[in-house]
Amino acid sequence: MAGVAAGCVIGVDLGGTKLLAGAVDADLAVHHRTNRPALGLNQAELVEMVAQAVEGVRTAVGGDVSAVGFGIPCTFDARTGMAVQAVNLPLHDIRFADVMAERLALPVVVDNDANCAVLAEARAGAAQGCEEVAMLTIGTGIGGGLFLGGEVYRGWLGGGAELGHMVIERDGRPCQGSCPNRGCLESVASGTALVREASLAVARRPDTALGLALEAGHELTGPLVTELARDGDPVAREAIEVIGRALGVGVANLVNIFNPQVVVIGGGVSAAGDLLLDPAREVVAQRALRPGRDLVRLAAAAFGAEAGMVGAAILARERPPGVPSAAGGRASSRTPAP
Ligand SMILES: [Zn+2]
Repeated sequence: MAGVAAGCVIGVDLGGTKLLAGAVDADLAVHHRTNRPALGLNQAELVEMVAQAVEGVRTAVGGDVSAVGFGIPCTFDARTGMAVQAVNLPLHDIRFADVMAERLALPVVVDNDANCAVLAEARAGAAQGCEEVAMLTIGTGIGGGLFLGGEVYRGWLGGGAELGHMVIERDGRPCQGSCPNRGCLESVASGTALVREASLAVARRPDTALGLALEAGHELTGPLVTELARDGDPVAREAIEVIGRALGVGVANLVNIFNPQVVVIGGGVSAAGDLLLDPAREVVAQRALRPGRDLVRLAAAAFGAEAGMVGAAILARERPPGVPSAAGGRASSRTPAP
């Protein structure tokens, strides 16, 4: 097995509720995945948990690892290498790459998790061969990634492409976590919003599979709703359709602004597939401008919930030679002059 996995890098996708890490070889095959809960930890505990997860994968793969890439749901400041603000995790103003490089004694690159995801999908996934791609990763929150002109777009300092925080309802509900805005796409179309919608729907109609599952002691979670929707439960399907229509409003904005060839939907909630995407497609067809709306493809991530992990590994493998390992990866190569 060590032979198969030789020359691996480790990709890590740190989400709002869990971490996913794996050793990824040059053909993007994933070896030795690990999955850890990230809920309820403070920043120091989170950093320790992440380091231990990486060391676990490194040991499992026989120690032959050349670099580690992290996708974290955070905005960055490329002037300082600082991970500045995470909406759904207790990370703020931390030199995450420096901390990890020192802790792991390995070259480390760090980027926003959805930037990693769009890179993976554009290189080898649902947007392979496309030069203009937008991506939304729907989990606890909604991450955004842009691949424009054949490159990941990060904005001036690395804080760009927070597409989940585009406003869909000006006076909508307060957004979640540390976001100060209201009515963000994330507040109406994330996995968190899905659970809220399902909870409202099941209260009105407790007699279907979803209500019975809750009565039997199951916790109301996004994966439960998605699974029952796929099995045909009408209440779960209704909740996913509500989320899908809200998603469509956000995608229509992306279509009008970026005229992408494809909008890729990833993250855990994308497991709902066309149950989620069809309502979104309908809204895009009603609301976006031509010709973009007639030509755009709305596709589920080919790497599924592993897109961020695989993209983080691609970044780790391609880190620019000679750039200090802890400088924050590619974003650092665009650091503006002081
Ligand atoms: Zn927001």
